Amino acid sequence: MSVPFLDLRAQYQTIKQEMDRTVQAVINDCAFALGKYVVEFEKNFAALCTTKHCVAVNSGTSALHLAMLALEIKPGDEVITVANTFIATCEPISYQGAKPVLVDINEQTYTMDPAKLKKAISNKTKLIVPVHLYGRTAEMDDILKIAGDAGIPVLEDAAQAHGSVYRGRKAGSLGVAGCFSFYPGKNLGAYGEGGAVVTDSDALAARMRRLRDHGSDKKYYHDEVGYNYRLEGIQGAVLNVKLRYLGEWNTARRAHAARYRELLKDLPVKLPPADDHCRSIWHLFVLGVEKRDELLAYLKERDIHCGIHYPVPVHLQKAYAHLGYTRGDFPLTEKWAERIISLPMFAELTGDQIEQVTAAIGEFVGS
Ligand SMILES: *Cc1c(COP(=O)(O)O)cnc(C)c1O
Repeated sequence: MSVPFLDLRAQYQTIKQEMDRTVQAVINDCAFALGKYVVEFEKNFAALCTTKHCVAVNSGTSALHLAMLALEIKPGDEVITVANTFIATCEPISYQGAKPVLVDINEQTYTMDPAKLKKAISNKTKLIVPVHLYGRTAEMDDILKIAGDAGIPVLEDAAQAHGSVYRGRKAGSLGVAGCFSFYPGKNLGAYGEGGAVVTDSDALAARMRRLRDHGSDKKYYHDEVGYNYRLEGIQGAVLNVKLRYLGEWNTARRAHAARYRELLKDLPVKLPPADDHCRSIWHLFVLGVEKRDELLAYLKERDIHCGIHYPVPVHLQKAYAHLGYTRGDFPLTEKWAERIISLPMFAELTGDQIEQVTAAIGEFVGS
């Protein structure tokens, strides 16, 4: 039996009738760009995040950029984030002409190490962007304390953390704003591209709504130069349907993670951190192993498909060579990039598939 890394078709089958009807309704209404379906989704997603506002946009990257525009990140500013992330966390910093300043991870959690954050703060630091990687929030109390003492706002990259909980509080509601992606492979995925910024700030939300739509509050009256970052109506409607199932899907992923943990606990592999004060939504289940590339190939031969998130840390990407970082600057991130493997993870994954994956890993490490 083949085990895909992710099976979007299996998810669609579970909601097909409702989804087909919903997409047809958007077409009948011709509510294609923003519009009532997007407004409805914004209301529902803000409720999930327990924030006052949600501003829906056309990708997670746009969400991060929009938040940085509204927070007035400018050329010469420094923005601190973590080396172990997808490049889209950094790109919007560059769009603003600001400088990404990277820090290493904590070895147990894979997320930003607060002690290293503290050392990286300078008088040019204007923003701190922790990333809730793999669905688990960063260590937000420590990060917020350090940022608060320095008077620097915190923007959460919650692109992998829809519904994730930190000490009873929702991802996205912890900093000045939180950015989400609805890329199809995320826990809450559009049928295309999508993203959102959530915030409690009326001023930030108003500014972001204007900037998202060509700098206008009133059609054809433009108060500032803006962008076209609008979410499509079809995506708003799709996300509204899926939002009703997100809790159920995240619960299924949590059960899969527990099962993986149980079946792998006696093997010489490094398991991801268990839920504690952070309640992960298990966007990814990431193991640390020796001979990672060999394991990846071994599993692929057995029709088990895994991933690496991410094979090259941001500071070693060609695109960011100009920042002047070298190998050795973030040793924990670098070490992990060589050892990590993301196992198949999606709500519809079956117990048999999980056993097939863990049995094959067992054979490999035992051989
Ligand atoms: C997916 C992702 C993004 C970017 O979102 P897009 O919708 O693909 O633009 C940003 N940060 C992280 C951590 C992500 O996983």
